Amino acid sequence: MRIILLGPPGAGKGTQAAVLSATLKIPHISTGDIFRAHIKGGTDLGLLAKSYIDAGKLVPDDVTVDIVASRLNEKDCEPGFIMDGFPRTIPQALMFDEMLEKFGRKIEAVINITVDDDVIINRLSGRRMCSCGRTYHIKNNPPKVEGICDVCNNSLYIRDDDKEETIKERLKTYHQQTSPLVDYYQKKGLLKNFDGSKPIEVTTREILDSLQNK
Ligand SMILES: [Zn+2]
Repeated sequence: MRIILLGPPGAGKGTQAAVLSATLKIPHISTGDIFRAHIKGGTDLGLLAKSYIDAGKLVPDDVTVDIVASRLNEKDCEPGFIMDGFPRTIPQALMFDEMLEKFGRKIEAVINITVDDDVIINRLSGRRMCSCGRTYHIKNNPPKVEGICDVCNNSLYIRDDDKEETIKERLKTYHQQTSPLVDYYQKKGLLKNFDGSKPIEVTTREILDSLQNK
């Protein structure tokens, strides 16, 4: 089964991908991970991508698509995959469809996990980290003493990524990029929406049920 996973930061996409991958026995392909692997491994595509990133430019779509294609040609992707982080734009989606068609394959489902921005902001902006690696949440998993790690007594801090302004900016970018994609896959009859504010295992069950009912 070939699946695309869409969802904003903080929607629990990584967790869902891990469970779906284990249950459906298909690899979870995070494009961020493949990029890092190519760059670290110094492949031609990795070096090319890095030259754009180092120049502060976006990696062009054809390079991104080539990097994804190289991963999908590996044996473990034969039974399918869960694609996470790609496509991000309509041109990428069109190139992706074309590439799959060349292999005689197509996307079978697009899973769109939606969560209200307010819920995501609450979830992420409540996170507190400690230099020892422990993580807390001011509401869901608070330390015994506010602002202090239970284990090592160090002061807790907020990651830059978890600052409210940063989250709002990331959500804005996400919505701008994703809404055309949502429309695109909706028109193709592939889109399935799931409420990511429910408990993770409930959403997982709903996703699996909908895939089995195909
Ligand atoms: Zn600590």
